[in-house]
Amino acid sequence: MPTFKQTSSRAEAAAKIAANPAAFKVCEGCDSIIGSATAICPNCHSFRFDATAAQVIRQARLLGSREQTSVTANDLS
Ligand SMILES: [Zn+2]
Repeated sequence: MPTFKQTSSRAEAAAKIAANPAAFKVCEGCDSIIGSATAICPNCHSFRFDATAAQVIRQARLLGSREQTSVTANDLS
């Protein structure tokens, strides 16, 4: 079975986010998932976020299956 390291680590990050959606929110500017304590999106500098758990989980699943959307690694530690 071939291993795609980047894809699996992305899927792992998505799983962590989906398991604890209250700790994250989705940027309305660029759809990135960032830590709930972050005031301004590090990617697009937006300050509008959707902190709904359902939206965070939905975006995390998208993140796990796609490669374009970025997640800030700092927010996962
Ligand atoms: Zn953004």
